[in-house]
Amino acid sequence: NASANALYNAFLYEKLETEKTRMEKFAITDFLTGIYNIRYFYHRLEDEFDRAQRYKTPMSCVMFDIDYFKKINDTYGHRVGDMVLREFAQCVRRHTRKSDVFARYGGEEFIMLLAHTPKKGAMAEAERLRKIIKRYKFKSLKNKSVITVSAGISSCPDKNIKTHDDLITLADNALFDAKDSGRDQIRVSGKKRA
Ligand code: GH3
Ligand code: MG
Ligand code: MG
Repeated sequence: NASANALYNAFLYEKLETEKTRMEKFAITDFLTGIYNIRYFYHRLEDEFDRAQRYKTPMSCVMFDIDYFKKINDTYGHRVGDMVLREFAQCVRRHTRKSDVFARYGGEEFIMLLAHTPKKGAMAEAERLRKIIKRYKFKSLKNKSVITVSAGISSCPDKNIKTHDDLITLADNALFDAKDSGRDQIRVSGKKRA
């Protein structure tokens, strides 16, 4: 009896641990795309920003927004649109370092945190990802449309960035510039257009 009880307790414990891991993953994952959600992103951003300030190391933030996504929904329907979002997110994640935090910001907007990465490195990374997306063949679109993405980058140290929210705001402003300049390109915060 005693050994049966011990065995049963061990079984229950393992089941509980598995369930705990599942719930923890669930809490930090975006349901549609399977990448990190914005809550987890903010949590990591706060941590990394504090660390970067304290140790005077650089860090960057990249905000992505899929170009003309409304047209994808209008042409193929919302369900295909959803599948495109998932494919997009998974494709970028596969091509990203484990240490970079890639999350869904909302809608068809995504955000990436690059710890220990100055502006130049972030530009190279965003440009690399932009090209990958442009070449990527979306299964959900059966090769009928090409998806492009615009991105805005902010980096610190920067005299205009005092809080982690400033980092996001400046990346968002740069993204706006990228859209304004014609889309399918990246723009860096604080730089005038060429
Ligand atoms: P732009 O190049 O300026 O970014 O144009 P856009 O059409 O991508 O931008 P806009 O902000 O006008 O439209 C975004 C669209 O994304 C509208 C909305 O219906 C769609 N969208 C947002 N979230 C989801 C989602 O979860 N699933 C689907 N299928 N569509 C979504
Ligand atoms: Mg948008
Ligand atoms: Mg868009």
